[in-house]
Amino acid sequence: MKIQKSSTSVPSVKAGKRATIKKALVTVTEKQCSRCKVIKLASEFYRKASDSTGLGSHCTECRKASERAFRATPEGKAKNYLKQKFWRENNPEKAKAIAQKASKKYYEKNKELVLQRNNDRRNREKLNLFRKLKTAQPNQELILKARLS
Ligand SMILES: [Zn+2]
Repeated sequence: MKIQKSSTSVPSVKAGKRATIKKALVTVTEKQCSRCKVIKLASEFYRKASDSTGLGSHCTECRKASERAFRATPEGKAKNYLKQKFWRENNPEKAKAIAQKASKKYYEKNKELVLQRNNDRRNREKLNLFRKLKTAQPNQELILKARLS
């Protein structure tokens, strides 16, 4: 007998699983965080479908703290980098907007430094062009002169 794996059977299995989880849900209004041991409101926990209460065992504050600690480790840094890279590649428009905003913010904060750097770069480029002009062939000369003006 042949067992056919069809793509349509996958979502139905998933839906069935989800349905059983929903049935097991216990509605709780508050819960004790297993890390800081403080009893907090259900709204202060992230949702976790596989848990019988539908909530995670750590409160949002503890979760955030442990995530922050993980991101500080080399492994966490690498994972976070890949995650952000993946997001940027899937949201190029948003990523561009965020980068532009950050760049503008940096400029506002370090205006003089940025202007000085730009000026230095321009002077360096000009200097390089002058150097090239000294040894330039006649046909190159015109191009270089145009770039200098
Ligand atoms: Zn906690």
